Amino acid sequence: MAHDDVADLRGVLGRLGWSSDPAMGRTAERVLEGWQARAAIGLRPTLTVVDLTVDQYVAFRAIGVTGMCPHHLVPYAARIDVGFVSTGKGLGLGSVRRLAEWHALPPRLQEELTVKLAEALSTELRTTVAVRVVGRHACDVRDGEFGVLETSFGPADQLARLRA
Ligand SMILES: [Zn+2]
Repeated sequence: MAHDDVADLRGVLGRLGWSSDPAMGRTAERVLEGWQARAAIGLRPTLTVVDLTVDQYVAFRAIGVTGMCPHHLVPYAARIDVGFVSTGKGLGLGSVRRLAEWHALPPRLQEELTVKLAEALSTELRTTVAVRVVGRHACDVRDGEFGVLETSFGPADQLARLRA
């Protein structure tokens, strides 16, 4: 971690009047460590493709990921559901989860995460994949709003099946 970065963030915290609390002695380091862990995104994970019967409907439900809101740099917890009709190819649940986690790493709107994941899965599975994401955002919770944001992308009939 760059010394300048820690000093800069310590300076911000100090100007906010938050430097004297002993509990915040390492807060600048911790915040930067959290951001750096997300920034160290690495290569796209390897996926395990499996053969499936054509026209089989497959749904992966309740995959949990943590994204980061690009407007406020705070996390959101999201539940992801994925559904598709096979054209002969499928993915293991672990592969779908790793791909979802990888797409959720950078600061990115939930709407964009939804589309990017649907497009990546559609390319991989050679069919149109429906993705539904329900997220609770820390920036809303901070403001006393506990509602969730639902975003989806894909064919309407498959999304209806995912919501059922
Ligand atoms: Zn936000």
